[in-house]
Amino acid sequence: MDTRLPLPDPRYAVAGSNYPLTGRQKTLLGLADELGPRFADRAGRYDREASFPFENYADLRAAGLLGLCVPEKFGGQGADLRTYSLVSATLGKYCGATALTFNMHACSTLWPGVLADDLDMTREQRAEHEKYRALHFERVVQQGAVYAQPFSEGSAAAAGKAPFGTTAAKVDGGWLVNGKKIFASLSGAADYYGVLCTENKPELSMRDTLYLAIPGKAPGLSVTGDWDPLGMRGTVSRTLVFKDVFVPDEAAMMPRGIYFQAASRWPHMFTTLSPTYMGIAIAAHEFTVRYLRGEVPGMPPVKRRMYPTKQVAVAEMWIRLEQTRALFLRMLDDARVDPPKDARLRAYAAQYTIMENANDICRLAIRTCGGQSMLKSLPLERLYRDSRCGALMLPWTAELCLDRIGREALYEPGEDDD
Ligand SMILES: Cc1cc2nc3c(=O)[nH]c(=O)nc-3n(C[C@H](O)[C@H](O)[C@H](O)COP(=O)(O)OP(=O)(O)OC[C@H]3O[C@@H](n4cnc5c(N)ncnc54)[C@H](O)[C@@H]3O)c2cc1C
Repeated sequence: MDTRLPLPDPRYAVAGSNYPLTGRQKTLLGLADELGPRFADRAGRYDREASFPFENYADLRAAGLLGLCVPEKFGGQGADLRTYSLVSATLGKYCGATALTFNMHACSTLWPGVLADDLDMTREQRAEHEKYRALHFERVVQQGAVYAQPFSEGSAAAAGKAPFGTTAAKVDGGWLVNGKKIFASLSGAADYYGVLCTENKPELSMRDTLYLAIPGKAPGLSVTGDWDPLGMRGTVSRTLVFKDVFVPDEAAMMPRGIYFQAASRWPHMFTTLSPTYMGIAIAAHEFTVRYLRGEVPGMPPVKRRMYPTKQVAVAEMWIRLEQTRALFLRMLDDARVDPPKDARLRAYAAQYTIMENANDICRLAIRTCGGQSMLKSLPLERLYRDSRCGALMLPWTAELCLDRIGREALYEPGEDDD
């Protein structure tokens, strides 16, 4: 007997049919689609309780997906940014909060992994990086550790416009960290927090950004504040406070100065939040089609597809979805170190489009499916609320994408007006 799950309708597979995928990519996407229905079943509870999806992480761990972006030579799956994004969008179809928090974890291995390989380092820096990242990767692959990425501080720092106010002072054998991070997804759930902070010098500089892994149980680290937001409630993004937290030198996830180089030379590193919302957009369209066809489990099999206005709405949603998906896939093709200017501008446009269109597609879905579809017993209203968060994620919020496109289209580097 064939016990495999039926393949999803290619309209609702992230890359659609006939998109060139490697064998490895197909396997990883298949794995995400296999786990997905369980994630979808649990998503309502995490959302209602604003609780962290621990069971989903146990499943990701058992499937070997915690090591998705750990390079193969360190025992991981070796996914690059493109592969990661396809997997992440697939997870996003089933549970937005799981996909979004998985982004924080996966990027904690993608950035020090394959991205860092493209950056310039001295021989000493490279040797140090090899040694330290081996420790981080070992924790993930062998011990099943989960990493978070708390960068935001409520200042201009997370937008990339000022040094982080959280500081690290050099002390014998390590660093002493002081400061605060807001919106720390996976708060209380992560084993390590990959914290961006500034080396404590008389004048703080973005060039001195450090990227340090702080254990969740480190003395001096506390999780504060409540968490009762509109959407993405399962991310549990509370506040972290660091008071004289000591970490040893090997906590460095990148050598001194290298994060600054990565942020300038590998801009697509900041697109990795968008796949979650690509997945949400696909899920909203799929739900709408099934709902109008009277095929949603638990609902009376009432068809609504015969009304011309419904058909127009579904067509509008599909057009928006395909526009979004086309830009998403093109952005992934562009991703590399030192991309040309058009690719950088396209990355901003893609991020903007995915985040705004995901919410718009959800809006149209509720409008056309009607009142019963927005009941809490169905996933659509959660997709709608989750989708609202995408455009707010720094450093590339929808507003900042507009700012960057406008500025970079009209000015060349170094140009200014008198
Ligand atoms: C569900 C969820 C999960 C999150 N998880 C994480 C996480 O794990 N790690 C993390 O680091 N952050 C996380 N964030 C935080 C997120 O990336 C933003 O930092 C946060 O939403 C900013 O909120 P704010 O009100 O402080 O923004 P503000 O800094 O007050 O900015 C408000 C808006 O003004 C604009 N703006 C900000 N700075 C500038 C500027 N210099 N120039 C022009 N315009 C500007 C932006 O469009 C921004 O959206 C999460 C947020 C949400 C909603």
